[in-house]
Amino acid sequence: MNILIMGPPGAGKGTQAESIVNEFGVPHISTGDAFRLAIKQGTPIGIKAKEYMDKGLLVPDDVTIGIVEERLQQSDCEKGFLLDGFPRTLSQAEALDDILSRLNTKLDHVINLRVDREKLMARLTGRRICKNCGATYHVLFNPPKQEGICDKCGGELYQRSDDQEESVGIRLDEYINKTAPLLTFYEQKGLLRQIDGDQEIGAVSTEIASVLRG
Ligand SMILES: [Zn+2]
Repeated sequence: MNILIMGPPGAGKGTQAESIVNEFGVPHISTGDAFRLAIKQGTPIGIKAKEYMDKGLLVPDDVTIGIVEERLQQSDCEKGFLLDGFPRTLSQAEALDDILSRLNTKLDHVINLRVDREKLMARLTGRRICKNCGATYHVLFNPPKQEGICDKCGGELYQRSDDQEESVGIRLDEYINKTAPLLTFYEQKGLLRQIDGDQEIGAVSTEIASVLRG
């Protein structure tokens, strides 16, 4: 089974990817891991990618696509895979279609985790860090006993600037704008499976598993 998982920051994609891997025994293919592997193995495309990264340059699309193609050709992907973090754009989605047709296969399901923007904001802006010892808390999921004070050392808690509403809002809007065309693309192909990501983690996993089993 060839699966793609999508979802905005804060939707719990990492957790759900892990549960799909455990349930269906497919390898988890994230672009980050695929890059690290190609560089470690010193493949031609890995060497090329490393050149850009060493110079601090953005890796061009054709290199990213090449890395994904190389990864999908490895033997552990023969029985299927879970793709995560790629494609991010419509042109990458078209490139993925080409790769898969060269490999004589295709995507079976595109899982999209849906969570309201407001809920995502609450999840993503809730992190607090101790100024003194660096312990992390979350106002919703892991609150300190006393608001604003570290349980461990009594230090003052603060919010990192990239956890603040403005930065989080920019990040979310960027994601939404970039991926909206992708969702339409996969919907038109009949591959899009919308999953309610605003449930307990276990309930989300159950819903995904039942959709994937058809
Ligand atoms: Zn502390």
